[in-house]
Amino acid sequence: MSNTQHESMSFLEGVERMVDKATLVAGLDPRTACVIKASSAVIQIKFPVRLRSGVEVFTGWWSIHSAHRLPSKGGLRYAPHVNQEETEALSALMSYKCALADIPFGGAKGGLMIEPSKYTVEELRDITHAFAGELARRGFLNPATNVPAPDMGTSAREMAWIADAYKSLFPEDLNQDACVTGKPVNRGGIPGRTEATGKGIQYALQEFFRHPDELEKTELVDGLAGQRLILQGLGNVGYHAAKFLSEEDKVKVIAIIERDGAVVNPEGLNVHDVRQHLAQTGGVRDFPGGEFHEDGAAVMTMACDILLPAALESQVSAGNAMKIQAKLIVEGANGAVTYEADEILQRRGIVMLPDLWVNAGGVTVSYFEWTRNLSHMRFGRLQRRFDELRGICYATALEEMTGKSMESRLRNEIVRGASELDLVRSGLDDTIRSAFAEIRDTMKRNPEIGDYRTAAFVIAITKLAQSYTDLGLADGGE
Ligand code: GLU
Repeated sequence: MSNTQHESMSFLEGVERMVDKATLVAGLDPRTACVIKASSAVIQIKFPVRLRSGVEVFTGWWSIHSAHRLPSKGGLRYAPHVNQEETEALSALMSYKCALADIPFGGAKGGLMIEPSKYTVEELRDITHAFAGELARRGFLNPATNVPAPDMGTSAREMAWIADAYKSLFPEDLNQDACVTGKPVNRGGIPGRTEATGKGIQYALQEFFRHPDELEKTELVDGLAGQRLILQGLGNVGYHAAKFLSEEDKVKVIAIIERDGAVVNPEGLNVHDVRQHLAQTGGVRDFPGGEFHEDGAAVMTMACDILLPAALESQVSAGNAMKIQAKLIVEGANGAVTYEADEILQRRGIVMLPDLWVNAGGVTVSYFEWTRNLSHMRFGRLQRRFDELRGICYATALEEMTGKSMESRLRNEIVRGASELDLVRSGLDDTIRSAFAEIRDTMKRNPEIGDYRTAAFVIAITKLAQSYTDLGLADGGE
């Protein structure tokens, strides 16, 4: 049974309903909400590619939800279920996510209807080149206007192919590297981008657990260590989030749900090993470190502290929201919780950390990569050794003043100049923390807002409304 069978509205309608709800709370003119909700452009492309089996025609979309700030930014998804409406809904979420996280981009999303596992690497490269070429020739791939990134079914490899396609069409573009983000590090990428969304989820949870007044809303009070987490989806986002949380924060990953079923171990699973098993066998069945359950949907509703749906949209729906036993839901995948499920879970008092906030890490580090590409210089190149020299001065001064020598571990920490990865992580952590500070502040100032998602949407649409008002495209009241 599909997850959304009980749902009375589509994914896109659900996102729009959220905007309507936030519009009311924010006291914005409903006409402004119409301006905000409207997608700016969607292009559908059908293109033929010659493959082993003959010529095949592929269908793909690029949806620009907002272009009040450029470039419009979002992931490019390769999956067989991709369609125009899904792409539009996801592009809208990108607008709100960028606004919440203070990323100066519009929102966009791309999708290609394809089952990547059916094709050879060479074929995937040819298909990607062809799709990117079609987008670039029409102005839907460009460092200044439309910049894709990895999403479900794509990775740094596809981003490198996209950059190649763009460069061969526009070799004279000085900023060609910035036409796509999430590239391999040695091809204009930035350290820390691959794991950025997962790292951002870890930072979001760490931040949430720093606030006892927020934690009180859940029944979780004892810090992150030992919390029992169920993960749905061991893709790039879920894998990195669960790996960091289990290895660094000692969270216990008690179940991992994948396409073929779920693997469960109340003592905690080794996330890295499960991923290796998945890569080798295509599933989680027969993983030696846990018990296999055929019915992954039933495992979603098992008792746990934290549920992390990181697979696909609409996985927590009106169909299963009543049965969820988690105390906290962390929305790793875009739109993982439907509008109706959100209402049910709120009534049940289950706290949700929304996608707009918790999975903003990917686009945040994409922003850093794009900026780096435009500056043509890695972050920290100018000041790293200067900082190091200053650190040596501080440490030496302290030692001379106290007459004692410092423990070498401490000295090294003081002396060390930040690497590019240190800077990326610091910027990511700051972005996630700042967004939560804004969410908390908004909730304090508007006590009628009882949940983080509404607060996140209120912040996002208020910023968008301001942008449109500044452009004369919405009424700001004066
Ligand atoms: N696909 C990611 C997301 O949905 C990243 C988008 C980007 O980096 O532009 O947020």
